[in-house]
Amino acid sequence: MKIAILTSGGDSAGMNAVVRSVVKAAILKGCEAWIVREGYEGLVRGNVDAEASSSYAPPSSANHSEFPVAANNIIDNLRFGDGELLKDGTGDYTAGRTLKGRYIVRVGWDDVRGWFTEGGTLIGTARSKEFRTPEGRLAAAHNLVKEGIDALVVCGGDGSLTGADVFRAEWPQLITDLRTNGKITEAQAKMHSHLKIVGLVGSIDNDMSMTDLTIGAPTALHRICEAIDNINSTASSHSRAFVLEVMGRHCGWLALLAGVAGGADFLFIPEQPPKGKPWEDEMCAAIHQHREVGKRKTLVIVAEGAQDIDLNPIRAEYVKDILTERLGLDTRVTTLGHTQRGGRPCAMDRILPTLQGMKAVEALLAANPETPSYMIGVQENKITMVPLMEAVAMTKAVTTAIEKKDFEEAMKLRDPEFRESLEGFVTTSALSKEKKLPVSKRMRIAIMHMGAPAGGMNAATRAAVRYCISQGHTPLAIHSGFRGLLDDDLGELSWLGVDSWMARGGSELGTNRTLPSVDLGAVAAKFQQHSFHALMMIGGFEAFNALQILEEGRKHYPAFHIPMVHLPATISNNVPMTEYSLGSDTSLNALVEACDAIKQSASASRNRVFVVETQGGKCGYIATMGALAVGACLVYTPEVGINLDMLKRDVRFLKARYKLDVKGKSEGRLVIRNEVASSVYTTEVITKIFKEEGGKLFDSRSASLGHTLQGGIPSPTDRARAVRLSLKCMAFVERHHQLLQQQTDKPRVAGPETAAVITIQSGSIAWVPVQEMVQHADMVNRRGKTEWWAGIKDLVEDLVARPQLGGLQ
Ligand code: ATP
Repeated sequence: MKIAILTSGGDSAGMNAVVRSVVKAAILKGCEAWIVREGYEGLVRGNVDAEASSSYAPPSSANHSEFPVAANNIIDNLRFGDGELLKDGTGDYTAGRTLKGRYIVRVGWDDVRGWFTEGGTLIGTARSKEFRTPEGRLAAAHNLVKEGIDALVVCGGDGSLTGADVFRAEWPQLITDLRTNGKITEAQAKMHSHLKIVGLVGSIDNDMSMTDLTIGAPTALHRICEAIDNINSTASSHSRAFVLEVMGRHCGWLALLAGVAGGADFLFIPEQPPKGKPWEDEMCAAIHQHREVGKRKTLVIVAEGAQDIDLNPIRAEYVKDILTERLGLDTRVTTLGHTQRGGRPCAMDRILPTLQGMKAVEALLAANPETPSYMIGVQENKITMVPLMEAVAMTKAVTTAIEKKDFEEAMKLRDPEFRESLEGFVTTSALSKEKKLPVSKRMRIAIMHMGAPAGGMNAATRAAVRYCISQGHTPLAIHSGFRGLLDDDLGELSWLGVDSWMARGGSELGTNRTLPSVDLGAVAAKFQQHSFHALMMIGGFEAFNALQILEEGRKHYPAFHIPMVHLPATISNNVPMTEYSLGSDTSLNALVEACDAIKQSASASRNRVFVVETQGGKCGYIATMGALAVGACLVYTPEVGINLDMLKRDVRFLKARYKLDVKGKSEGRLVIRNEVASSVYTTEVITKIFKEEGGKLFDSRSASLGHTLQGGIPSPTDRARAVRLSLKCMAFVERHHQLLQQQTDKPRVAGPETAAVITIQSGSIAWVPVQEMVQHADMVNRRGKTEWWAGIKDLVEDLVARPQLGGLQ
């Protein structure tokens, strides 16, 4: 099969990762990989010299009889490209292959190397008027048939995917017309009677239904949060107000998540206009309250498509005028515009497109005339295939609901996380003087950080504190973990005191690894002395351990018969049963940033292999996902370990790989090794082995990322996740506190379900009692017994053809 990929509509970060993944997956499956430049426009234009392009011979399709058959296809395709395609930026000419007048181009394995790090789309995108016309689509079909292609991957927004579906539905008629006009032969008509199409959603707005994330949306959110963090410091210095306009014509996802992660004061999104009429009063009242308690800065976020309940647009300039005139604030407008589209893709925009691109090729190989066109998405942390037009129809339904002013329906059509994020925003930004709960239901909630710092710990604390204040609870911060508790190092936190914590890395409360078993009786006494009604521990494996100890301690100490929760926060992501802990996204991004720089240095010296050591304890999550996100060629994890046979194969692989590089165009390569993957084959030993064995082919160096992985500023995902999970924790302790209060027998007995860990399973939140979690934990190695990401290591190696090349001499 010949598989072609095009990118269409507005560009987004991650599109290059899609192209790379589709090209590699196609080649791995024995198919030819083709790219279409400039979206549908390229399809319509085709190749002026189609004959020349199909007869174009790979530089070395010669004779690889010395290699196993499985390797041959890869080698042909490796040699097909020279890694220089489109690299000159003009897209007109590349070494050995002219692209002038050629829009549909066969590519090789190495043509897409290093594409991960680039924003936008290297194969070009366009909005094509011609493709909207039957004549344009007839030309497009002709051009594809001329090249022998009838399998197409389209990466773009809902418009592009609609175009794809129209094209597929019309295809049989287009083929008949081409045959009738004599443009194609009977044999061609027969061979290409069916067009296989699959769509991937490239859109920064995250506006497509039936997928949790669109390609490019996480990176755009990164750009917005970077801007907010910068604006915050100047806003605070001058005590200014800023109105920030972000993209999102029909979808408020970017504005909402940026509002949550950036700690905004007020926001406007298309799906949920302010209910108060007039909204100007509601906004001014909220901001006035914030200023009254001493807040020096104000941030209002406006989505491009924001409107009031009568569908009148709400413009940033108008919001500014209101803030200036009514509140007397020195207000500025910042419109982020296209900066949101650009820049290096974040980790998620490398991992998801890679997995989705591979799935797209699978879908094409399985397609037949009866199957619908599929859209590849991600739902509940799984890569999914859904009928493309169903997703497009549902997406349009949101716009229709908004047009009909049915905002309730519009919110329903978004996923539950969207609604929860909005509730989270309201809870953490509002400052109401009226406390919601009667005095009898108010609690003293202790909050503690444990273990190593992780991005999002402070954001989670901020959300909990603000929730407590809104309900009338007392949020008690325990400093320096159980040591601090024993030293009475704790105090109440205020609404304003935690205001800037959203973007702060590290641990504002201070953290350590001391477990309550250090003196359980004394810990119980402190619980009693300070009258805790609930405890929230934010941390990694230690916090889980501590919860287990406290729960067991209930046998002896009544003070522990209160709701107690653990919110997993650790860069190692080693807490059992949860897919993500706070901090894991931040550290993946820190790793990506560091590895991009290392790879650049490695490539500068042409033939260097960098062995990069990561943290992670006995859990290989960060190493494995990091390897996928940076395109490393090998990854060593504690779960799999390292042995001599493995190293031999890896050396063989590296030698074969470097031998196949076009002379003078070798690139640096990365090997990721978890710090404790082996006690014998250390990073130093492996580096030396590679150096020795590499001879003239390649050189080797090592780098240790160490504590840099804890990341400076927490990622937007970690911040938003922190808010969502923290508020769920608060609801949990409230609910169980009320149930305990209903017990008439004294002393009250808290059941095992009241000491629980909040987890993310299949993308949804699930509570697991700590007793149950112990069953799923490998306590010796401090990780879960099973890992959802276990198969990713093989995938990393597939994407560098290690299985094929590792067998070569
Ligand atoms: P973005 O989210 O950035 O707007 P999009 O994919 O929705 O991306 P559009 O401009 O709507 O962007 O569509 C991109 C291209 O897809 C159009 O220029 C056109 O060539 C093609 N296209 C869109 N809708 C159709 C359609 N109904 N029939 C044929 N082609 C279409």
